[in-house]
Order: sequence, then C-alpha cells, then structure tokens
Amino acid sequence: GAELVVDNVGVTYGQGAAAHHVLGGLTLKVEPGESVCIVGPSGAGKTTLLRCLSGLSKPTAGTVSYAGQALTGPHSDIAVVSQDYRGSLLPWMRVWDNVAFPLQGRGVKRAQRRRRAEECLASVGLRDVGDKYPWQLSGGMQQRVAIARGLAYDAPVLLMDEPFGSVDAQSRFDLEDLTLRLRRELGITVVLVTHDIDEAVYLGDRVIVLGGRPTGVLDTLTVALGTD
Ligand code: ADP
Ligand code: ADP
Repeated sequence: GAELVVDNVGVTYGQGAAAHHVLGGLTLKVEPGESVCIVGPSGAGKTTLLRCLSGLSKPTAGTVSYAGQALTGPHSDIAVVSQDYRGSLLPWMRVWDNVAFPLQGRGVKRAQRRRRAEECLASVGLRDVGDKYPWQLSGGMQQRVAIARGLAYDAPVLLMDEPFGSVDAQSRFDLEDLTLRLRRELGITVVLVTHDIDEAVYLGDRVIVLGGRPTGVLDTLTVALGTD
C-alpha cells in the first residue's frame, strides 16, 4: 500500500444560488497500514469524502492522490464497500459470483474465483450461501456479501461506508474484529465511515470528526488515539 493524501479538497454540488459546498478544504493524510475512522452528522460529507478517496468522484477543489499520483478514477489498489449494498450487488448473479466479480476482469479462472469467493464469504461468517441469489438473503447477510466482495479485491486499501449498519449485533462484533485483523495481520489501510463513535474509537488509529454546519463551513477535528 501507499499513502493516500487529501489536499485541500472541497466538493460543490449544484450551481449558483443552489450551490452546496461540502468538505470545505479538507486536508488529510492516511499512512499505509493505518486505520482511520470518519464520523460526523448526516450531511457532513462522509460519503462524499469516501467517494473522492476511491476515485469515484472528482473533487471540485483540491486533489486526492495515491502513491504520489492524483487519482483520476478507480484504482486497482483501492477497494470500496459502499453504503448501498442493495444497489451494488447484482441480482442476476449468484452470491459467490458477486463476490468474485472483481476477479473476473483479472483473468482469474472460474474454479479459482469460486474458491476465493467462498474464502471471503467464510471470513464474513457466511457459509453455504454461495449458490443463492442476493435477494434470497436478509439485508444483514447481503451487507456481509458486499464486504466479502470488498475483500476479494485483495487490495492494500479498503474504504468502507457504514459497512455494519444493518447487520445484527453479534455479526457486527465479528466484523469489527475482522476489520482489526485486516490491519494487524495483513497491513491493509482501512478508511471507515461510521455513525458510531464507539466503533470509531475501537477500530481507528485515528478518528476524524467531520462537523457540518448549515453554511457548509466545516470544522475538522483530528483526535489522535495512538495505536492500542
Ligand atoms: P448518511 O451517509 O448519513 O446515511 P446519505 O448519504 O444517505 O446519508 O445521505 C445524506 C443526505 O444526502 C440525505 O439527505 C440524502 O437525501 C442526500 N443525498 C445523498 N445522495 C444524494 C444525491 N445523489 N443527490 C442528492 N442528495 C443526495
Ligand atoms: P454524509 O455521508 O456525511 O451524510 P454526504 O457526503 O452523503 O454526507 O452528503 C453531504 C452533503 O452533500 C449533503 O448535504 C447531501 O445532500 C449533499 N450531496 C451528496 N451527494 C450529492 C449529490 N450527488 N448531489 C447533490 N447533493 C449531494
């Protein structure tokens, strides 16, 4: 993995009188192998920030760079688990195929894709669901499938937007521990958006608080927690 740098980033939605400014010149550096949690009220720009970090959105002002190069689109080192698992899982594909989808473009053979998918599904606590379709699973299970797909990328950077929002409490604890292990054992860089400050403190080496104001001016407070 390499360093992710957010330099003076702002995003403007809409134009003229309807213009709405988000992030207001945010600067942030995420070191390789670091775990950074982003918290803040609804509308503060958490999802917008994650989209910029993933290269899916281009900031209106400032730059986001990875390994010293400005991101101009999705990067093979950066995997994303979006908040909207319903919109991101493909309903006509079986669960295992959804999970293995990122590997298809890399020319990985079907049998090997299947094996990797089952591995990733097992690591999020899902077994024997590979042959089902996403819509045959509960919301919490679908969310775990989306996380499994994020793992299937084998990317050194994993961005997650409220990944545990609709899973039950026990699965949530398991997935939080899985997230800790991703960093500790595999050295994966994690940037995770959550509404839950306890979760942020538990999972983050650092917690970034995005505070929204009606004017769109933002305060950014970094709480350094140290490692463990
Ligand atoms: P959170 O991440 O806090 O759950 P959401 O990302 O779902 O919140 O949305 C926050 C607010 O942004 C909501 O009021 C929603 O209607 C608005 N919003 C999200 N995406 C869009 C969009 N594409 N166009 C307009 N408004 C949006
Ligand atoms: P959060 O994830 O913290 O809730 P978002 O990044 O979803 O915040 O949204 C920040 C602000 O930007 C919100 O006020 C939302 O309405 C607005 N917004 C987000 N996406 C869009 C969009 N595609 N078009 C217009 N406004 C948007």
